[in-house]
Amino acid sequence: MSEKRDYYEVLGVAKNATAAEIKKAYRKLALKYHPDKNEGDTKAEDKFKEAAEAYEILSNAEKKQRYDQFGHAGMGGAGGFGGGGGGMNMDDIFSQFGDIFGGGGGGGFGGGNFGGGRSRPRVVRGTNLRVKMKLTLQEIADGVHKKIKVNKLVNADGVTYKDCQTCNGTGRITRVAQTFLGAMQTQSACNVCQGAGKMIDKKPSGADAHGLIRKEEVIEIDIPAGVEDGMQLSVSGKGNAGPYDGISGDLIVVIEEKMDENLRRDGEHLHYDAYVNFVDAVLGESIEIPTVSGKAKIKVEPGTQSGKVLRLKGKGLPVLQGYGKGDLFVHINVWTPKKVSKEEKEILEKLKESENFIPSPDHTDKGFFKRMKDMFQ
Ligand SMILES: [Zn+2]
Repeated sequence: MSEKRDYYEVLGVAKNATAAEIKKAYRKLALKYHPDKNEGDTKAEDKFKEAAEAYEILSNAEKKQRYDQFGHAGMGGAGGFGGGGGGMNMDDIFSQFGDIFGGGGGGGFGGGNFGGGRSRPRVVRGTNLRVKMKLTLQEIADGVHKKIKVNKLVNADGVTYKDCQTCNGTGRITRVAQTFLGAMQTQSACNVCQGAGKMIDKKPSGADAHGLIRKEEVIEIDIPAGVEDGMQLSVSGKGNAGPYDGISGDLIVVIEEKMDENLRRDGEHLHYDAYVNFVDAVLGESIEIPTVSGKAKIKVEPGTQSGKVLRLKGKGLPVLQGYGKGDLFVHINVWTPKKVSKEEKEILEKLKESENFIPSPDHTDKGFFKRMKDMFQ
């Protein structure tokens, strides 16, 4: 790194210069070496940055005092100078101009448009393309690789470009504004070519004003396990093409969850309503239930009460970008027949008289609390 020049020398002022003198000296240099007037001249850019850095220090009473006392060695790590050697970036310099030239941050040279002081047409970005994707619970449980057909804008074959006539291919429009310092240039993106600096010369029929045409394309996408209804996945660069050989937008995939016939989703957990007949609830039985990974058998213990909840750990859905899986809650309901034959009725009437079939309030309550306990275990 080259040796830094003395800040007073850079601005061409005496050590005892007043704040007004320092400001005036900097204004002069800033105008002389401004990138607008010295396009492509890196020496001028260096001078411009050097002057800005000197002014940044000498216009600040505290920094000036430290500099006067310790020289450049005192500036290490001070206020954004990157260890004392990095110099200022253009954004910093232009934000300083509001102070020097008046008129706030956007005034004067119209900071922000410089992007490092270079003049280059802008690359135009294509728009995002949104598609909806319906997924089953099984697909959500495992994650899925999908091929989707999209109708997107692409650059038409045989399009030729010419320089934009409005901005002469620079992508920017320069306006001259009168200020107390004299004529000042402000620049903005060309509104005709959106800053691309190009316009369509020839295009095939069917292409739009930007030379884009709709085309069906198959895009492959990996959907991670555990996504939820309404989530949006973004596939970078797979959206509509950017006109004038720009960059493509993104493909936004909006997830829609297909309602499952049997399983209800609650975050990463699943719920299933199982119906067992009264005899199985009394004597116990093994029943088949659906899960996201096929059928499973579970045991209904003898004496199971209606409303009991069985929890199958890890039989739910994976947690998106997390660890582990949710659970499957099986809600046991005892099925009560609506119609019975004469014979069945006689058997039931007999059962009614049996000792164990008479519910006592005591039993009922115990059953209730046990069920609650099971639900929240
Ligand atoms: Zn233009």
